[in-house]
Amino acid sequence: MSDCIFCKIASGDIPAKKAFEDDDMVVFHDINPVAPVHLLAIPKKHIASLADAEPADALVMGKLLQTGARLAVEQGCTDGFRTLINTGRVGRQEVYHLHIHFVGGPDVLPPMLKR
Ligand code: AMP
Ligand code: ZN
Repeated sequence: MSDCIFCKIASGDIPAKKAFEDDDMVVFHDINPVAPVHLLAIPKKHIASLADAEPADALVMGKLLQTGARLAVEQGCTDGFRTLINTGRVGRQEVYHLHIHFVGGPDVLPPMLKR
C-alpha cells in the first residue's frame, strides 16, 4: 500500500526506532508512547486490520506475538505487560496496517477499560 505509514516503516522509506526486523515482520518503538515501554509489532505484508487477516497470515501473527513478548521482556517488562490490538472504528484503530501494541514498564498499568 503506497500511502500506508507502516508499510513505509517496514520498507525503510520512513525512519522508525526499530527493535527487531526479519523478512516477515518489524518491531519498533511507538512514536507517542503511553508507558515507558511501548512497542509495535507489524507484519511486512500489508494487512489492514485484524479483521482482514487470513488463514495464511496465522504464522506471522504468531511470530508477532512471540517476538514482541520477548522484546518487551528484554526492554524491561520483566513483571508483565499488556498486549493490545485495536481493530476498526469501534476499536479506535488509527493506523490501518495490522499492529500489536506491547505496553509496560515498572508500574502497574491502569485497568484496560472502565466498567
Ligand atoms: P492504533 O490506534 O492501534 O491504530 O495505534 C496506532 C499507533 O501508531 C499509535 O500509538 C501511534 O502513536 C503510533 N504511530 C503512528 N505513527 C507512527 C510512527 N511514524 N512511528 C511510530 N509509531 C507511530
Ligand atoms: Zn501497510
